[in-house]
Amino acid sequence: MTFANRLKFERHEDSFLVLERENEAGGLCRSKIVGGAPFDIGGGHILDVRRPCVTEYLFQFLPEKEWDRYVRDSRIELRSGTISHPIEANIWQMPIDEQVEYLESIAKAGCNSGAPMPEKFVDWIYWKLGEKIAAAYMIPYNKKMFGDQLDSLGTYWLEKLPSVSFKETLLSCLTRKAHGRQPGHAEYFYPKQYGYGEVWLRIAKTLGDNIRYGQKICAINFDTNTVTTADGSKYQAEKIITTIPWAEFKEIDGMPEDLRADIKKLKHTAVQTRYFPENVDTDSQWTYFPSPDLPYHRICYRHTVHNYWDGYWTETNATRVEGELEDGVTRFLNDYAYPLNTVEKPQIMARLLKWCHTRNVFGLGRWGEHQHYNSDLTVERAMALVECV
Ligand SMILES: Cc1cc2nc3c(=O)[nH]c(=O)nc-3n(C[C@H](O)[C@H](O)[C@H](O)COP(=O)(O)OP(=O)(O)OC[C@H]3O[C@@H](n4cnc5c(N)ncnc54)[C@H](O)[C@@H]3O)c2cc1C
Repeated sequence: MTFANRLKFERHEDSFLVLERENEAGGLCRSKIVGGAPFDIGGGHILDVRRPCVTEYLFQFLPEKEWDRYVRDSRIELRSGTISHPIEANIWQMPIDEQVEYLESIAKAGCNSGAPMPEKFVDWIYWKLGEKIAAAYMIPYNKKMFGDQLDSLGTYWLEKLPSVSFKETLLSCLTRKAHGRQPGHAEYFYPKQYGYGEVWLRIAKTLGDNIRYGQKICAINFDTNTVTTADGSKYQAEKIITTIPWAEFKEIDGMPEDLRADIKKLKHTAVQTRYFPENVDTDSQWTYFPSPDLPYHRICYRHTVHNYWDGYWTETNATRVEGELEDGVTRFLNDYAYPLNTVEKPQIMARLLKWCHTRNVFGLGRWGEHQHYNSDLTVERAMALVECV
């Protein structure tokens, strides 16, 4: 949406089409009204305050006064009780004997005893946070998120996670408040009256006839720069910007065999979101659930966004969705939710995108680049790409 909007209004280019599979814009950031309030169907979505050029841009479509600004309050439900996120900065909220056990365990972790940093995410968890945090939270939670694929993840993406040193954990226990670098979304915006999807609908409106809905792309030909939709329509372009998952191209012509084989190695997870009308007694905006006994890994609460909104939704890795669903249950399946940061992915994507550039095809965004990008970063990258294609 951002790329197309900037192309039209900054570069004054009108000779382009956006082809969208769904009948509305917004992708994973869409919202629907359910039970009288917005339900973010791709899972809880909020706008980080950290990129002013992005927030200023989005405020052109949904003015700043139509957003509320929040300080993050997210929690983790451990067996021994609920504490604030991130765990390593909030051990001080545990009973004192548990604090001592956790601190002892972190002190023995590899990063504090001079061991080299491992290459796999699973090993990194023990190396960075120690056995206790690994067993109580990080391993079970990430198993729920990534399933069998947890073992294939690398460590090059960990700037997404909080960074709290052992010293900072100690300091937080002594001062009884969190220390260390907080995770993303420490402060964020959410629309006052709408779901997160509203801003993308408004951008889509600016595109007029330049956007066509119900166009599911299933093939791409790099010799002719043509894409084909499920109903057989063909579109040819001088330049193609793709934001769709690479595996969605069921046919790829004119691409070397080794790159086509690489695309098959890209991994992702699917997430089901499910709405519940009840309220839960919490001040948290969302809670993480590492317990293997619960299918979902996160709950987002609506009453802590606005106290006149009720209900909550769960987010569950699609492989963990259990049983038959009763009638009347509102849920959405997002086939592509998390691109997985496997050890080999950076090389695969670097090769693929480099070759595609030589053919005037540009991968953009969470799926075009197969990166765990949030929407603010995706917008920033779209703004940058408009300047150079
Ligand atoms: C559970 C969850 C929580 C998240 N929370 C946040 C958050 O709090 N804040 C935040 O900023 N970001 C969050 N994100 C990330 C955010 O969803 C992405 O950064 C953003 O959606 C990326 O935009 P995109 O356009 O690259 O991809 P998408 O939103 O996936 O859009 C891709 C578009 O391509 C279309 N498409 C797909 N296949 C085809 C096809 N074959 N033919 C034609 N069109 C097709 C889709 O319909 C969609 O419109 C979250 C993501 C998830 C999964």
